[in-house]
Amino acid sequence: MISGTHRPAQIIIDRQAIKTNIQTAIAHLPAHTELWAVVKANAYGHGLLQVAATASHAGATGFCVAILDEALALRQAGFTEPILVLGITSPEYASLAATQTISLTVGSQAWLTAALAQLAKAPAANPLKIHFAVDSGMGRIGFREPTALAMAEKMVRQHSQLELTGLYTHFATADEADSAYFKQQVHHFKQFKKALKTLPRYVHVANSATSLWHQACAGNLVRLGVALYGLNPSGSDQALPYPLQPALNLETELVFVKQVTAGSKIGYGATYQASQTEWIGTVPLGYADGWQRRLQGFHVLVAGQFCEIVGRICMDQFMIRLPQKFPVGTKVTLIGQNGGQTISLQDVANFAKTIHYEIACNFTDRLPRVYL
Ligand code: PLP
Repeated sequence: MISGTHRPAQIIIDRQAIKTNIQTAIAHLPAHTELWAVVKANAYGHGLLQVAATASHAGATGFCVAILDEALALRQAGFTEPILVLGITSPEYASLAATQTISLTVGSQAWLTAALAQLAKAPAANPLKIHFAVDSGMGRIGFREPTALAMAEKMVRQHSQLELTGLYTHFATADEADSAYFKQQVHHFKQFKKALKTLPRYVHVANSATSLWHQACAGNLVRLGVALYGLNPSGSDQALPYPLQPALNLETELVFVKQVTAGSKIGYGATYQASQTEWIGTVPLGYADGWQRRLQGFHVLVAGQFCEIVGRICMDQFMIRLPQKFPVGTKVTLIGQNGGQTISLQDVANFAKTIHYEIACNFTDRLPRVYL
């Protein structure tokens, strides 16, 4: 995708905020617990390579990604830390992953059999590092029976092309106040742990929510995602045990300003009608940038004042009602602070009836990322 470097719209990432969030998280971890930065999906929209570098400087000792390509991009950029692919990778890439020292998630014996066949066809210099995923209640990927896990462990022992490096699970409700289901999952995971003859180097269960609110069961590695970007995994449901600093700001400027008379219509479908003489500003950003169409009626900040988004959001532009005339070029803040007021990713998510994760991931590459 083409990045829009010749238009006044950008995502500004505060690297110091990311660094501080990681350092604070590390300070709250039990001793001998590593923090791996979850940088999948372009680091939740914040930019894979820049965030990975910042995380590494801040003390993260490894990375988690969702797909092999993200891991390869990190290796290509020179990152030498351990990398775990959290999703299921096709066994046809077993040799590639082994050669690049990228750890893959395994949730079935069938996968191991297929990967061994591939490794026999294209032998790699290093054994393939694997982390067994256990489905303790998330219902997504992973071994569902301790006996199946034990058989898989046996299989790995019999093949020097494979190296069991980790055992992990993922919680479905770690961000919720009611911990009943969480406790059930912890209990199930313990059964799986018992099924293994030898525990691997890494045993890990904690995403951001688990590391924030259930520290006792962090294992020896946490997979910190959304919290490193300064966001509360529960939205606004649960209070954070320590403050986090949001790292993402989205700014642009007015590209067109006009006064319209009462009755004038604005935008596709002519869904907005000025009720009096009004100043209307045009903002050069739209749903093709990830500023979702359902945000009609939400607001942005101009000179510290909340301005309503009027009319439908177009692919590349939208209109706002201004309290007064502002010159073309006036700063417009979609996410971040402006004149003492703030719009957070959470505010956007609340209006769009979704979670901040989705809003951040949806920003497309057309919006350049600028790093402070
Ligand atoms: N671990 C796994 C398996 C995940 O799928 C994710 C994110 O989806 C994370 C860790 C990080 O989660 P969070 O961003 O809530 O910290």
